[in-house]
Amino acid sequence: MSSVFLMPPKMITGSGAISKLCEHLRGKGKKAFIVTDGSMIKFKTAGKLTAILEQAGITYEIYAEVNGEPTDAIVAKGVQHFKQAKCDCIIALGGGSPIDAAKAIGFMASSGGKIRSFMKTEITSPLPYFVAIPTTAGTGSEVTQFTIITDTGKNEKMLLKGPALIPQLAVIDPDLTLTIPPHVTVATGLDALTHAIEAYTSRKAQALADSFALSAIKRIYQHLETAYRDGGNLEARQQLSLAALEAGIAFNNSSVTLVHGMSRPIGALFHIAHGVSNALLLTRCLEFLVPGNPARFAKIADVMGITGPGRSEEEACNALLRDLDHFCKVLKVPALPDLQVEKRQFYNHLTKMAEDALASGSPANAFRIPGQQDIMDIYQKLWPDH
Ligand SMILES: [Zn+2]
Repeated sequence: MSSVFLMPPKMITGSGAISKLCEHLRGKGKKAFIVTDGSMIKFKTAGKLTAILEQAGITYEIYAEVNGEPTDAIVAKGVQHFKQAKCDCIIALGGGSPIDAAKAIGFMASSGGKIRSFMKTEITSPLPYFVAIPTTAGTGSEVTQFTIITDTGKNEKMLLKGPALIPQLAVIDPDLTLTIPPHVTVATGLDALTHAIEAYTSRKAQALADSFALSAIKRIYQHLETAYRDGGNLEARQQLSLAALEAGIAFNNSSVTLVHGMSRPIGALFHIAHGVSNALLLTRCLEFLVPGNPARFAKIADVMGITGPGRSEEEACNALLRDLDHFCKVLKVPALPDLQVEKRQFYNHLTKMAEDALASGSPANAFRIPGQQDIMDIYQKLWPDH
């Protein structure tokens, strides 16, 4: 069986990578449209970027309004601003939200129309030259062909997909992640871990992507707790930045499965950060998924180093579930009641959430494909006293 493997044509990695940006940007655009958020301005990360651009004589316009997961309204305003400022290339700076927003702004600026109408199509028409500079180690959006935009009218997350959405240049500089607060380090790190686990256990898994997925799992399991406890630890940050990149490459080619399918409706309805809703779901979903392909889940346990010699498949899978639960406890992943979600309201939305999860198509990528009732059962298990 043959497979297609996609990744950005160019990636700069390592401490200080951002200082090399302009060497690679020259000749690609005259005026950059920087898509970012308010915290990047406040904590002077955007200033670091603009100083580098100024030194190279590249002019720019800043759009710093992606202060949360991106919506259709934020994208529409960005498109208008991009056109008015007559920019010809885009630099996304921030976590997954500014990068996702920038993809949609670049695409909508060249295509026109409504975002929703592109949901089921493959996006192939070229965007303006597009650079992604992540400042967290999680979403992998800097290397993927996906963007998720919330439809504010319908409270639904729209998935856009296509090779044209892959940034032409990804700049992965772990220095930019040194000041991430512990709870964001955990949410983004567990998001990346989820990408890697889902990619490795997907029906669409492929050999080349498997190597990236397993490497990412190993790095995250070894280094996330250190980065959580000691944010300034550059070695841990370097490892996590690479892991997020690897996990992004893995799911870009093998796709995600049940956790992401079920996580998006929680995010859209209850405004819980993407990484947190994934972390809440991870073990509960894996309990359901393991019987579909125990050999693959057992291999993950091996890579995490939590199995002994002569282990049986069942022992390895049990160790995986037990250790992931423990890992989430050590990292203080909050439970739904801690997130001000009301149980009755959550239950009222069970049917819609399960329908939206199935409609996303992601659950069908798993080896054990859930039905609507299975998904509703898993959602209910998120409550300690379901
Ligand atoms: Zn994710």
